[in-house]
Amino acid sequence: MSETIFGKIIAGEIPADVVFEDEQSLAFRDVNPQAPIHVLVIPKREIANIAAAGDDDAALLGHLLLVARRVAEQLELADGYRLVINCGPDGGQTVDHLHVHLLGGRGLGWPPG
Ligand code: AMP
Repeated sequence: MSETIFGKIIAGEIPADVVFEDEQSLAFRDVNPQAPIHVLVIPKREIANIAAAGDDDAALLGHLLLVARRVAEQLELADGYRLVINCGPDGGQTVDHLHVHLLGGRGLGWPPG
């Protein structure tokens, strides 16, 4: 059984609004969007967070970024967007399955909170 809510989405145990999928990854809309476009890109293989990724995950990590770019193109974020990876409690991570936030559709402030 999957341990996190994202594992359950991968397993098809709970629904998600999927915008892209391939062998290694899944991209779906965030249930609590922080921008007009808010998509999460996750690896199908469970990795808790970026701190838990190994050197042998380099290709997979690169793939997730390219998937995020592809989804940004698909959703026509021509004016730009932001990719965010939260890690651990201080990073604001709430789901222990690595994910890349793709945020866009409005001007985003900096620095983040
Ligand atoms: P983080 O705080 O970086 O761990 O991000 C976790 C994100 O997952 C949050 O933005 C949540 O809104 C989102 N989230 C939690 N459960 C679901 C779900 N079932 N479907 C889609 N997004 C979710």
